[in-house]
Amino acid sequence: MFDKILIANRGEIALRVLRACKELGVATVAVHSTADEDAMHVRLADESVCIGPPPAKDSYLNIPAILTACEITGADAVHPGYGFLSENARFAEILAEHNVHFIGPRPEHIRLMGDKIAAKRAAKKLGLPTVPGSDDAVGGDEEAGRLAGEIGFPVMVKAAAGGGGRGMKVVRAATELRPALATARAEAKAAFGDDTVYLEKYFERPRHIEIQVLGDGNGSAIHLGERDCSLQRRHQKVWEEGPSPALNTAMRDKIGERVAAAMREIKYLGVGTVEFLYDDGGFHFIEMNTRIQVEHPVTEMITDIDLVLEQIRVAAGNELPLQQDSVKFHGHAIECRVNAENAVSFRPSPGKIVHYHPPGGLGVRVDSAVYHGYAIPPYYDSLVGKLIVHGKTRAECLMRLKRALDEFVVDGIETTLPLFRALVQEKDIIDGDYHIHWLEEFLTRGAVEP
Ligand code: ADP
Repeated sequence: MFDKILIANRGEIALRVLRACKELGVATVAVHSTADEDAMHVRLADESVCIGPPPAKDSYLNIPAILTACEITGADAVHPGYGFLSENARFAEILAEHNVHFIGPRPEHIRLMGDKIAAKRAAKKLGLPTVPGSDDAVGGDEEAGRLAGEIGFPVMVKAAAGGGGRGMKVVRAATELRPALATARAEAKAAFGDDTVYLEKYFERPRHIEIQVLGDGNGSAIHLGERDCSLQRRHQKVWEEGPSPALNTAMRDKIGERVAAAMREIKYLGVGTVEFLYDDGGFHFIEMNTRIQVEHPVTEMITDIDLVLEQIRVAAGNELPLQQDSVKFHGHAIECRVNAENAVSFRPSPGKIVHYHPPGGLGVRVDSAVYHGYAIPPYYDSLVGKLIVHGKTRAECLMRLKRALDEFVVDGIETTLPLFRALVQEKDIIDGDYHIHWLEEFLTRGAVEP
């Protein structure tokens, strides 16, 4: 096992990693920007190092500063959390060059999956079903026109380097293609410094279903079931749950086993998520995330497996904690991402939390790094915390979620709690009958009051 882990992140995920380290008896180093001096992860870590001013590019993305922090503190491994440097293959390589372990997959797999075109090609080769579309970057507008004709409208223009829902455009007719390509390219260039785009069949009402995997890097890999992340706004997940209301055990086992087999074949190391659009009974690969995900607690609640702890263990060279046959799914879990945003306009609402009372009781978990009197800085994502609820059945889970939402108090800032309180009353949500555009359609009906 590692002696000392530096956590190259902030907020709830830094705290989440810290908890796993404490249970493993591993010392921890927090890094922070000057805006995060009072952050909980800094207070709870064994040591902390300030790595720069508030903008992420000068602190949490500042590789030389993080490397220096490793050297000063003698950390022998880095956990990158999610976001920031978690999918930066070069960062993983630089750490290795300095004899520091990166807690994540091998750089080659991060790089492969970071390029969505290459990832799709690899998925296809590994026998996973993909979204119909161009298997290459689209060149000129003429070629794009021909390809779109072959795929059939509507199509989606997507950025090869994409992430966070950026650089995506839906095109419903040939005349819209040229401007959509230009916008997607410009967005991708601005966000990722790479304007490579490709075309995909656009699904009108699919579900987003993703499979959680864990591999030891030596050819053993298991799947830990699925999460349904169809409730999204601007292609960003808002509510995640597992199991998916759309799948049964046989369907789960089948897709899960196909994904696990693919991971065994590439000798995948660590945790990862293989994302699919699920439409009309069929799965279509869209991308793979080579890191721990925001919504990982959903899986933890229904499997009783601590994903971050196992991620650290396999990174340190340990075997998988169990075989596929021993993974038992029980009950149902739902996660709500509570953001510091107005629940109707989604305008960010950073600032001081003057009163904070998280819910509790059986089956209720809150992963958050905020506290009474804490001021949410304006520089980073607006997550206040994740409310994760477990129940023996989906109905029990919903009942408990409703109760927990009623109990949750965050005063001083606006939050998206009213959105969730409205959602749990909706028939489609209660029935589990929704798709990736359901939430945006619901929001345009104006059913939420902040
Ligand atoms: P990102 O990496 O930016 O999150 P993804 O490829 O994971 O991008 O897609 C994010 C979301 O965009 C999906 O969950 C889905 O809602 C939507 N999406 C992506 N591809 C398609 C498609 N071909 N058809 C319809 N919706 C899509």
